[in-house]
Amino acid sequence: MMIVSLVMLAVRVLFGLAAYHDASSKSNPDATMWGLLVGFLGIIPGIIYLCIRNSSGNYLLCPNCGFKHYLYDAACPRCGAPTQAPAQNINPLAAQQARRARLFLTIGIVLIGITVLAAVVCFVGFIASVSVRSHGIYY
Ligand SMILES: [Zn+2]
Repeated sequence: MMIVSLVMLAVRVLFGLAAYHDASSKSNPDATMWGLLVGFLGIIPGIIYLCIRNSSGNYLLCPNCGFKHYLYDAACPRCGAPTQAPAQNINPLAAQQARRARLFLTIGIVLIGITVLAAVVCFVGFIASVSVRSHGIYY
């Protein structure tokens, strides 16, 4: 049980870091706030963050194909035409931060998977030992 709560703590920190890096990669000024919220409060701000992560901030229309995309994308996601936004709006670390966010998220999900698996194994082992014991008493 001690180990499970430690793992859950680690998962929260990882998800918080993932939210922080994801928000930074989108030049979200509230990146730190989201990281802390997700890290401390877990799933609920996480869901809220997932809902707003692509809706906050400025959009512009691609001059080439008319696709509406995020101002901080270096190029149009549909046709690849470079964004006609002022250079200072483009976050040069976006790709790196997005990669980090995915990495933290993946580690967190893997940790949850391992914990669930370990819990199932413990549960099955517990049931098995109980049934062996009750059989021992029975016969
Ligand atoms: Zn385009």
